[in-house]
Amino acid sequence: MSEFVARHVGPRPANIQAMLAALGYDSLADLMRATVPESIRLTQGLSLEAGLSETEALAKLRAIANQNQVWRSYLGLGYANTITPPMIQRNVLENPGWYTQYTPYQPEISQGRLEALLNYQTMVTDLTGLEIANASLLDEGTAAAEAMTLSFNVRKQKAVKTFWVSADCHPQTIAVVQTRALPLGIEVVVGDHRNFDGATPVFGALVSYPATDGAVYDYTDFIEQVHAQRALVTVAADLLSLTLLKSPGEMGADIAVGNTQRFGVPLGFGGPHAAYFATLNQYARKLPGRLVGVSKDQYDKPALRLALQTREQHIRRDAATSNICTAQVLLAVIAGMYAVYHGPQGLQAIATRIHQHTVTLATALQQSGFELGTEPYFDTLRVHVGDRQADILTRAASQHINLRQLDAETLVIALDETTTAADVRDLIAVFTEQTTLPPAVVSPLVDHPLQRTSAFLTHPVFNTYHSETEMLRYMHRLQSRDLSLTAAMIPLGSCTMKLNATAEMVPITWPEFGQIHPFAPLAQAQGYLQLFQQLEAWLCEITGFSGISLQPNAGAQGEYAGLLVIREYHQQRGQSDRTVCLIPESAHGTNPASAVMAGMKVVGVKCDSQGNVDLVDLRTKAEKHSAQLAALMVTYPSTHGVFEEGIREICDIVHTHGGQVYMDGANMNAQVGLCRPADFGADVCHLNLHKTFCIPHGGGGPGVGPIGVQAHLVPYLPGHSLVETGAGQQAIGAVTAAPWGSASILPISWMYIAMMGAAGLQHATEVAILNANYIAHRLAEHYDILYTGKHGLIAHECIIDLRPFRKSAGVTVEDVAKRLIDYGFHPPTMSWPVAGTLMIEPTESESQAELDRFCDAMIAIRGEIEAIATGQIDAEQNPLKLAPHTAEDLVAAWQRPYDRRQAIFPTRWTQENKFWPAVNRIDQAYGDRNLMCACLPMDAYRD
Ligand SMILES: *Cc1c(COP(=O)(O)O)cnc(C)c1O
Repeated sequence: MSEFVARHVGPRPANIQAMLAALGYDSLADLMRATVPESIRLTQGLSLEAGLSETEALAKLRAIANQNQVWRSYLGLGYANTITPPMIQRNVLENPGWYTQYTPYQPEISQGRLEALLNYQTMVTDLTGLEIANASLLDEGTAAAEAMTLSFNVRKQKAVKTFWVSADCHPQTIAVVQTRALPLGIEVVVGDHRNFDGATPVFGALVSYPATDGAVYDYTDFIEQVHAQRALVTVAADLLSLTLLKSPGEMGADIAVGNTQRFGVPLGFGGPHAAYFATLNQYARKLPGRLVGVSKDQYDKPALRLALQTREQHIRRDAATSNICTAQVLLAVIAGMYAVYHGPQGLQAIATRIHQHTVTLATALQQSGFELGTEPYFDTLRVHVGDRQADILTRAASQHINLRQLDAETLVIALDETTTAADVRDLIAVFTEQTTLPPAVVSPLVDHPLQRTSAFLTHPVFNTYHSETEMLRYMHRLQSRDLSLTAAMIPLGSCTMKLNATAEMVPITWPEFGQIHPFAPLAQAQGYLQLFQQLEAWLCEITGFSGISLQPNAGAQGEYAGLLVIREYHQQRGQSDRTVCLIPESAHGTNPASAVMAGMKVVGVKCDSQGNVDLVDLRTKAEKHSAQLAALMVTYPSTHGVFEEGIREICDIVHTHGGQVYMDGANMNAQVGLCRPADFGADVCHLNLHKTFCIPHGGGGPGVGPIGVQAHLVPYLPGHSLVETGAGQQAIGAVTAAPWGSASILPISWMYIAMMGAAGLQHATEVAILNANYIAHRLAEHYDILYTGKHGLIAHECIIDLRPFRKSAGVTVEDVAKRLIDYGFHPPTMSWPVAGTLMIEPTESESQAELDRFCDAMIAIRGEIEAIATGQIDAEQNPLKLAPHTAEDLVAAWQRPYDRRQAIFPTRWTQENKFWPAVNRIDQAYGDRNLMCACLPMDAYRD
């Protein structure tokens, strides 16, 4: 095995032997034989190359990257080159203190990124002129599709099922909206807003601002017309342009969506980038995605948290507002920081500079007789070139310049933050064969009714940290409030918070990966194509599938894509009545939410007392819905953390009734190298590359959720309307805006697989299972382990039952979770998949020392629970109920009936390495009752 394997895997060989001995096994192979059902176990190892060292893998990837060509792309389409401020690149994007954070479900140790996201939300609401914004969505296309479904769900006339879309939207946005509309029975009508007459009733409309060809239209009258039908209007708007243009809110828009990529996030051949979604307060409860809100802690100190969680899929399941789980937190943090760094004047200066370059270019082109599109414009020009197109494109290519071909006689040029006067000169030369700049002229925006007059980003946070020293300290202050993998293990069941090795992360900021426009000609992206092809081949080998689509940019989007593939398969076979999707009770909330989005009807399947799919109930339901059965969604190993013995039988039952098996592959970390979903009956499976394959969690995104499918489903894998991706004639429409989704983070998974090799990957899985079983073994004397498989073993995660303590000591799962923070840990997954439990997943990357430290903490907490149960400690005033403890507690007059040192420094480790939660336990209900989702005025933080 490569030397890297021993860096990725936490326990040393001696630890592995010691832990095996504790469990009563001689070798990892023995433990695997006892854990993984024989009927599905791989008999020989994966056929992958041997693992490489960090240096070797980086050199190999470097050679691949060098096949990409970084041209100057003026292609626009919602993507713009940008300057990532170096200090943000190094201190956020390349900083494990930020990128290894988990989703901020434990707000007391997440105040930093919650503040960064609140800044982002405030930036979005200010610029769009709307009232409330979420903390990011996957991409602009998805955000537009979510705007459509929100409009659909709140529509006044239930019979109206038409969504009107302007033909001036970016084509990939229209395509993603169409894909989403189809299974929901929504008809999408594409038209010209200037001819909108309201003859056909619609429930909503989508326009682009600026339009895809650069025209900036005043939509005020159009919005009034649509409102007259009691329908909602969504404006897809470029945030940077809004520093100069009247906001969508001021025109009367109900929703604004868009990409925030050009706020310092590299193009990355399409992603990841954060899309924004803003709307009016009255739709807050229908808002898709996560929302950061302000609440208060026990001392009435303002404290941030995720608000209105009851909207989300993990609570509302098939009635959720959307299926989104992993979003784009890291990218939203970067975009928000970009606004903090530049401030309103800085942003306006950037926008003005780009605009002035555009004016110069426009003037030169007009002087040379080219006909331009509608005025005003911001940064994008439509140029009628007639029969000169071929010559112009040839000259452009010779200068390594990409221009957008709108049609045979029209080109579009979109400038960006990186455009210099020299670039403008080159562009003029490409069009006119002259190199002189025209004299300066006044922008058509000056004194135009669409010029922005309202203030934005007036909050102090956007007007304070403009020196690098101040900015550095601000970012570091926020980072230090958050517990990331740099501080301790984050044992989140189902989320696989493993090592994100630095060597894996290094390539993502190479310009050859970062600076490629998603719609650059594929000839310039040969390195990317090779990377995709290798990664797809490796993932096929690992899963056993025949084809992979890398398009979905999160697990839940993979589910949606996979179910659409299944839907299409049935339709193509003339079985469009197959719309029932069986989903076990224990399924992740994204499963039912995705099924609904794919137009399916969810039918629940029971689980037995061991947490396994109840085969009797499955048979009954499959028989009952035999003719309508589309699919079963099943997680493997189960969400209860066991290798179900009956998995083959489960798949057979579904196939017998003509259904397809969708496997939720979030738990792939227990399978790699040991068994393969395609071998034991899955037809489709998504993989969370941000779990098993080392893409960092980023505090709640980015993610990548590719799907693998069996040969009979390969023809239906998602295509793309703008790019020849190799998808066939029968491909379903695009599920994401970019053809390969979040391409720029795929090098992370490529590096991981390349460095681990077949043996290393298998070893990692085995140690992940060992680590989990070791924790279960150590905790079993003190807590009930809820589910186990054969031989009392679990897979890669274990659930401990805390429900008995509610009765015996009045202690809840939340109390234990918050108390773990006092011990320096991030709590495990709370109350999922079973209420009142904790689900612990250590992963292979944690050392035995860290596992022991965690187990010691859990055992000590168990002692504290016992002390409450026996009356030794007060039932209300105790270290669990009042956890987590802060510095505020330390300096307050201590009048509690328990020891202060015990509360705050319960272990030697904490005495030496205390991780201080920034706030005390947060009042969750208060935050939802007093919804406040933008930055508070500064004085709220004083006193
Ligand atoms: C994480 C997870 C998902 C959702 O994946 P996202 O990338 O967050 O959308 C689905 N199912 C299970 C079991 C998961 O653990």
